Amino acid sequence: MQKRMMIYTLLTLAIRLSFAGAVLLAVPLATFSQDLDDTEKMLKALSEAPGVSGYEEPAAQVFMKYLKPLTDELQRDRLGSVIAIKKGAAESPRVMIDAHLDEIGFMVKRLDENGFVKFFPLGWNFSQQLLDRRVIIHTRKGPAQKPLRVLGVLNTGPDIDEEKIIPREDMWIDVGVESRAEAEALGIQPGDPITHESEFALLANRKFLLGKAWDDRIGLGVIIGVLKNLAGAKHPNTVFATGSVQEEITLSGAKTVVEAVKPDVAITLDIDVTSDLPAYTSEDYAQPVLGKGVVIILHTSEMLPHVKLRQWVQSVADELKIPYQFMLEEGGGTDAGPIHKWNLGVPTLDLVISQRYYHAANGIIHRDDYESAVRLITEAVKRLNQNVLDELMFKPLSK
Ligand SMILES: [Zn+2]
Repeated sequence: MQKRMMIYTLLTLAIRLSFAGAVLLAVPLATFSQDLDDTEKMLKALSEAPGVSGYEEPAAQVFMKYLKPLTDELQRDRLGSVIAIKKGAAESPRVMIDAHLDEIGFMVKRLDENGFVKFFPLGWNFSQQLLDRRVIIHTRKGPAQKPLRVLGVLNTGPDIDEEKIIPREDMWIDVGVESRAEAEALGIQPGDPITHESEFALLANRKFLLGKAWDDRIGLGVIIGVLKNLAGAKHPNTVFATGSVQEEITLSGAKTVVEAVKPDVAITLDIDVTSDLPAYTSEDYAQPVLGKGVVIILHTSEMLPHVKLRQWVQSVADELKIPYQFMLEEGGGTDAGPIHKWNLGVPTLDLVISQRYYHAANGIIHRDDYESAVRLITEAVKRLNQNVLDELMFKPLSK
């Protein structure tokens, strides 16, 4: 999810960040070697795959690896978005389920004479969350066409005014070299993508999943879960599961992939924030609570989700007692924006998984929210035939 307007107080942020730190310190190291079930292994692979906007290929490969045995056909569009087609009992409606492949991160802007790396953000990176963070620069110089991973630490000078937000221009990435020539010998050059370094882990309560890039790898994970369920089920439609590129910077992937899919109806998946934090209790800002179910978006600055479609999906959840929550997002925007505006309009529903710590390299999501999203979308797709869709949408006047 993109965020245009973030209204936080410095105090709130300081407490939020120290809370995040406390959570991390409380994790016994043993959790990193826990046995993982198949879903946890899949989510770990998605979370840890590097893939900032425009450099999504590693994430796309993981997504396609899981989708290949579950779908009839895999395609790409020319920008790199993934389109997986799963045929059901009817060709139409064409049901698009979309999440984005890219994660927030950076791009190398330039090297200074001492080999420090100046960087440019890809997506919204919050300055207070950056200092002292480990990052990986992916250069083109690796063996067998694979990028070389150069570890660095993102930091600033010692003269820190605690009252002031440190601008990105005063930060750099230190890769541990003595000169620009030494950095260049590693292959580092302007344009190289930079990702946050963060290992997936189950927290003390293993339903709490810690990792980077949940925005929007958890959406990709939900799509894989839905297609696993549909593998043994009947559905009266054709499903187009898409992983779009460049959501975090321009929504470009959604704009092109919707042209390729030509959907009759769409569900998009992304993340949003939670209200259940000790220092952040404004339910006017964020309404969802971690673990209480998939979140149905009521509004973003990009779009109003299709009202009849939303109410119908809600009725499916009510009937099956699938937990869900609402979020009225006052800013923000997702792939749902361009998708619902395609052609004569695509009835589109914007679903999200709530996450503690917005655009975080150490974000926390809840397994129960994942499961409720998978179940709700599976059940909706199983029921979404042409008659149901005809009832839900406005019909263009015929000539
Ligand atoms: Zn997102």
